[in-house]
Amino acid sequence: MANQSTPNPAPQSGAKVYEMQWDCKFCGTKKLLGKTHRFCPNCGAQQDPTWRYFPSDAEKVAVQDHVYVGADIICKACQTLNSGKSEFCGNCGAPLSDAARAAQGASRTKDDGQTLEAEDLKQRQLSSQVPALAAKPAAKKGGGILSKWKLIALVVVVLIGGAIFALTRTTKATAYVTGYKWNRSIDIQSLQPVHGKTTCDRMPSSAYNVTRNYEQVDTKQVADGETCQTKQVDQGDGTFREERQCQTKYRSEPVMGYMCTYVTNQWVGSAPVTASGDKTNAPYWPESKVSNCLTIGCTRESGRDETYTLMLKGDGNRPFECKVAYDLWQSTPLEKGFDVEVGTLLHNFLCSTLKPK
Ligand SMILES: [Zn+2]
Ligand SMILES: [Zn+2]
Repeated sequence: MANQSTPNPAPQSGAKVYEMQWDCKFCGTKKLLGKTHRFCPNCGAQQDPTWRYFPSDAEKVAVQDHVYVGADIICKACQTLNSGKSEFCGNCGAPLSDAARAAQGASRTKDDGQTLEAEDLKQRQLSSQVPALAAKPAAKKGGGILSKWKLIALVVVVLIGGAIFALTRTTKATAYVTGYKWNRSIDIQSLQPVHGKTTCDRMPSSAYNVTRNYEQVDTKQVADGETCQTKQVDQGDGTFREERQCQTKYRSEPVMGYMCTYVTNQWVGSAPVTASGDKTNAPYWPESKVSNCLTIGCTRESGRDETYTLMLKGDGNRPFECKVAYDLWQSTPLEKGFDVEVGTLLHNFLCSTLKPK
């Protein structure tokens, strides 16, 4: 194989193949056939693959038993158009390895029921030139934008890095204890009637006051025909193929069933019971007064929480508080000294660094 550098998409089996049309750029003859007329029947000029275009639906000419061998190859030495499987130029004999292939891959699509007119050749030639012409200034502009964005990104990285550095920087300070706080709380739940609604088969067994109603319970998607498109693909050898692509359409349909509205008794959070104080009284648990029964309005405990807080002053006699473990809280006397780190930027005390002196 001479030309493996340009991959050609394999035509789909069963795809219909038609002739592209082309216009002779020398004598102006129009609507020549891409496969049949390799040379202009009027003036004898060779077909220029950049003057090919899709014909209108009315003028499509089918190609029977077309064997696709890839896009045409253009001889570098004499510009002759050779068949895609040629290894040497049919005109001058030059080897065709590294030779360019005719442009291919242009395509257009139509919906079912739509009729296509002939492709606008000028438009096709323009759109194949414009990217090449626009490439240089665009690249320059892109470069400018890129470096601008790079600069912004650099500034952002420096700012974020600086902020993290400043926020995590600390200095050492000393502090001393000025007071104590404790707080204990008990979470309480009470049994309450809660209204619910589900499909009846999912209703909890403890449900009561049930009302059943036949109604829409869901929506399902039902296949409802297809939407199809026909795609024309330029094969680069004077022909194009038509591929049909279909997608299943769906419509929504209601699903009917029995919905149940009901009531169940559920444990619902209510106000916690709390107790608090300083060191003048020993910490104690408040009276929760739960009833521990199972009818509506009954209450139960659902969790306990306790915190012990040292009140301190430090770093220029500024007051602050730290939650600590009970043992430390209990054994620390007033005026006891601590080391603590202070954020350089926000002057915040970091309780996690609190250490008895
Ligand atoms: Zn001609
Ligand atoms: Zn040649």
